Amino acid sequence: MSRPTADTGMIGPVAMTTIVTTDLIGITRGRSFPTDELASYQASGCGWVPANSALTPQDAVADNNPWGAYGDLRLIPDMRTRVQVPNGPDANAPGLDFIHADICETDGRPWAACPRTLLRNEVERYREQLGLEVTAAFEHEFNLGELDAPLSHRAFSLGAQHHAASFGGWLLSALRAGGVEPEMFLPEYGKAQYEITCRPTQGVAAADRAVNVREITREIARQMGLAISFSPKLQEDGVSNGVHLHISLQDQQGNPVMYDPDTSNGLSTLGQHWAAGVLKYLPALCAFSAPTPISYLRLKPHHWSASYACLGQRNREASLRICPTITIGGKSPANQYNLEFRPLDATASPHLSMATVLMAGRLGIEQKLALNATTDEEPDTLSEAQRQARNIVALPGSLGEALECLRHHDELFDALPKPMMETYLAIKTQELKSTDSLTPTELCDHYARIY
Ligand code: GLU
Ligand code: MG
Repeated sequence: MSRPTADTGMIGPVAMTTIVTTDLIGITRGRSFPTDELASYQASGCGWVPANSALTPQDAVADNNPWGAYGDLRLIPDMRTRVQVPNGPDANAPGLDFIHADICETDGRPWAACPRTLLRNEVERYREQLGLEVTAAFEHEFNLGELDAPLSHRAFSLGAQHHAASFGGWLLSALRAGGVEPEMFLPEYGKAQYEITCRPTQGVAAADRAVNVREITREIARQMGLAISFSPKLQEDGVSNGVHLHISLQDQQGNPVMYDPDTSNGLSTLGQHWAAGVLKYLPALCAFSAPTPISYLRLKPHHWSASYACLGQRNREASLRICPTITIGGKSPANQYNLEFRPLDATASPHLSMATVLMAGRLGIEQKLALNATTDEEPDTLSEAQRQARNIVALPGSLGEALECLRHHDELFDALPKPMMETYLAIKTQELKSTDSLTPTELCDHYARIY
């Protein structure tokens, strides 16, 4: 296709493959080359610039980032992660073809501020220090098309489903082609709000898969000329878009270790330590999982998101939820049992947020932390004394507060690579400054266009 044909001498567009990195603010970036030259890029990748990792959501390189104008890096493709979607609803649109990469120094050493490397190192710590494997899946909610959808598109309704059936059908097909193993496409509670879920997978691949879901979903919408946004809030009083991260742990033989049928809620002792760790560090973790000013319009009571650090079994207001298991048809609960982390949204990097949740859980296991912060009631309806008795603390009310919590949580902060934290704080400080005069409605519009 790329070369003149003998008979006509005409050329056509060359097929391209892109090597990508998904950065600290969850934006996927990269460089493309002719697909027929892929072999020459496999081993040493393509060039990259350190300060690219310091871009704010407003697309400015953050002042005071540690890199400035200096330095060169490589994006080294992880060939197992290639995503190819040959075609979509627009017959003239080029297919998707991209490969996730790790960011390395030019001599191949890992680069300290690469979020994918951070996650892989953490997954390896689970394997080497704890003898555990990590399985995870991200669920994504988003808004599609015009927000003033007709009244017939009622919450969870067949009408709303049918309205988006063509989109949904293409989406499921494209996700399958891209190796994402989609499960369900469903209308959600909000107007013009939908959700896409996919099967769990192991370790770093789970975060790569979250990126694939976002990019493929956006591409199908783009090809169909539909507005789309994963931003946590599109209207101040609207229904929020969450990302829910489901995690389970297995031993080296593949046996689930978070489950114990002899406890009241099925959570094993190890699972309790893990959950206690996540809850202990949660106010600081929010700096990564709810990382933009708009995230805090979502983390409020009665959004079914999360506003207190607690675990619940049948409680969608809890930050960590023990997911239901079913025994219908003789299914075994052990293999289904997982914890759902809810204070997460699509303005977060899947790799950075998953890595830091795993770190907090590992610290909980290593410190054998006791789990007190549990409730199946809505935490804001408990009295302050009841919450204190169970160690249930409120989550930060703003990005500024979350960053303060992070700065003061030495154990977590010090466990993260210094250049990565310097870059992250530079980005977030600048982002706060550039958005602080926006009203909630303006914030909604602003982030809807970015995410
Ligand atoms: N939309 C809710 C959120 O912002 C989640 C609703 C649900 O449980 O599916 O997280
Ligand atoms: Mg949902």
